Amino acid sequence: MNEYAPKPTPVPRLTPAGLQVDATVEQGLAHVARDAVLTLSGPDLPLLKECGNPECSQVFVDRSRGARREWCAMDPCGNKIKAAAYRARKRANGPLAAGRSGRPFA
Ligand SMILES: [Zn+2]
Repeated sequence: MNEYAPKPTPVPRLTPAGLQVDATVEQGLAHVARDAVLTLSGPDLPLLKECGNPECSQVFVDRSRGARREWCAMDPCGNKIKAAAYRARKRANGPLAAGRSGRPFA
């Protein structure tokens, strides 16, 4: 990260077609490295969280109210975890789950 951060970054140009950015791989890595240095040394550091989906390795900045965000995004991670929890609850209750009276349905 510190090796690439000081290197030249991509330079945006305004063309008749709009924004154009041409970059080498090294310039792309420099851009990512600078962002990482600034994020990891800045005020957002305490807000960094890893996604709650064990199959996901995304890291995100949690700016949600109360810092209660658990997933990188609802689609797919939040939906996947919520659906799995719903299926687990349904399996635990079973098809003959107890009703409000506590007696099993017949
Ligand atoms: Zn995720």
